Amino acid sequence: MLDLKSVFIYNNSKGGGIVFSKEVREKMSKAKLGKTRPPITEETRKRMSKAKLGKTYSAESRKRMSEGMKGRIPWNVGKSYSDETKQKMSDAKKGISWDAESIKKRADSNRGKKRETTICPHCNKEGGKAAMIRWHNENCKKLIES
Ligand SMILES: [Zn+2]
Repeated sequence: MLDLKSVFIYNNSKGGGIVFSKEVREKMSKAKLGKTRPPITEETRKRMSKAKLGKTYSAESRKRMSEGMKGRIPWNVGKSYSDETKQKMSDAKKGISWDAESIKKRADSNRGKKRETTICPHCNKEGGKAAMIRWHNENCKKLIES
């Protein structure tokens, strides 16, 4: 029943949404005719009433809500995902996976920037790890002793 010709998709400052053409709205309305909702029990009625108590909106915000909701269909209407798809979406958010290209780029950007430094316990000089091992630490100790 839904095809692109009968649906108008819009995007504006308020957001985006789908507006059904008059024809589609009539079809949907006809489809609902003859279907009856189960009667609402007294208990449910009381619960619904209680839930709304104390909630008031100004006339202006009520108007805005009304305008904003007109013709809008929530993004998730009619969408359903299999458990497998849901799992995949969940996994995708748990950690960004890097492809080889991204890893290389990251490595290149770090090259020459990040060097591990250590401090020589004998002369308190700080330097790159490799240089410190070569010239300081045990060697520095010997130099100082000699
Ligand atoms: Zn040293």
